[in-house]
Amino acid sequence: MKKISILLAAFLITTALSGCGSGGSGENEEKEMKIIDLTHMMTEGMPVFPGDDEPTFQKVTTHEEDGYMMTHISTWSHVGTHMDSPAHIIAGTKTLDEFPIEKFIGRAYVIDCTDLEEGQEITIDYIDRNRDKADKAEFILFCLGWDKYWGTDQYYGEFPIIDDEVAQYLIESGKKGVGYDVISPDPIESEELEVHNALLEHEIVILENLKNLNLCGSDLFTLYALPLYYENSDGAQTRAIAVLEK
Ligand SMILES: [Zn+2]
Repeated sequence: MKKISILLAAFLITTALSGCGSGGSGENEEKEMKIIDLTHMMTEGMPVFPGDDEPTFQKVTTHEEDGYMMTHISTWSHVGTHMDSPAHIIAGTKTLDEFPIEKFIGRAYVIDCTDLEEGQEITIDYIDRNRDKADKAEFILFCLGWDKYWGTDQYYGEFPIIDDEVAQYLIESGKKGVGYDVISPDPIESEELEVHNALLEHEIVILENLKNLNLCGSDLFTLYALPLYYENSDGAQTRAIAVLEK
């Protein structure tokens, strides 16, 4: 079983690395790629949005008793690193399963916002600093450096949020998605969820609770953010990776 998994993983990685992107066929290309995992591992007792249930992982069979191991996983759909669909907030709009798979793969760019402090806003200056790259990106990921607070109370603090002008930029430039290393693009106590609404209304999916955005460099890269595929998915756990060239 293990052997099959390893072979399958090797096949998938090889396919992913050779099949997408520039279409170049350089033999050294694979070696020069670097993959960054942007995903928090799911565990019992992991941080969840205040009021949400923590996930549980219960062994339903064991090697000792059954000869094989399986787990009953129970989780809310917005726990851990995950993606929000428009239907999460806006009734009658798309769920994740209704998007083509191409929606979840694309060129991405990280906006470094780590100099901002609690309560400050991400203004259009942050986009304009590298406007060229931001314009080319299909996904914009905001690095607030907040993943370092994962598991502490500060994670739910007053992390910076984007202002209206940035939201407008994301909408007008037709991004596929936006990502954050915080739990929400809106202030934690927000009931209006203005940013959620603005983005999701335009079918810009939102990645929340990412990590390692600080390791993605200052160039465009390919983001693979594949949500769990289930029917009527308002949101779903997502294994997000950055594939950097060179
Ligand atoms: Zn969510």
